[in-house]
Amino acid sequence: MSPNPCLDCETNCCTRLSSIRVSQNEFESYFAPRRDEVVVLNDGPILEIAMKGGVCPHFNRECTAYEGRPVECELFPHTTHRIRAIGPFVLATYHHRVVCPIRSELLATDARARELITALVRDAYGGRCWPILLREDAPVYQLLRRAYLALTGRGQEWRGPLPEA
Ligand code: SF4
Ligand code: SF4
Repeated sequence: MSPNPCLDCETNCCTRLSSIRVSQNEFESYFAPRRDEVVVLNDGPILEIAMKGGVCPHFNRECTAYEGRPVECELFPHTTHRIRAIGPFVLATYHHRVVCPIRSELLATDARARELITALVRDAYGGRCWPILLREDAPVYQLLRRAYLALTGRGQEWRGPLPEA
């Protein structure tokens, strides 16, 4: 029996993806061999990729890479928001305001989500960066956001918290 709890869901998220973020290593493992089926939206240590037609090349009625799927997939319904190196730090924000009928079943604990994001960041940036994980709704995130806006005036670089699903 498949361990994938999405099998009974008709939403099939993996056939209607906007984009996901993967490390270069993940890209090489999962998507470089299917390069003509994906579009790289943003390159870098972490790539943002879109699937042509919204369908992941690993989806065939279910995720065929489920046991070793990319971190972003394992995180869901947590979703990374922004991952950016700033000097020696990597800021990684994420949220879990997505609609899913078994959201409470799938949602990893905060500790596990942080562990997964830390692994993704370390894989992408190597040992030189120390990941700082922030939730968009955390007071410290809001403080940093206000400070960033005040210092740079680059309001478009940050999104506020998403509306509740
Ligand atoms: S993640 Fe949730 S909404 Fe998406 S396919 Fe699985 S059960 Fe359905
Ligand atoms: S690797 Fe699997 S879980 Fe991730 S988007 Fe593709 S089909 Fe979905």
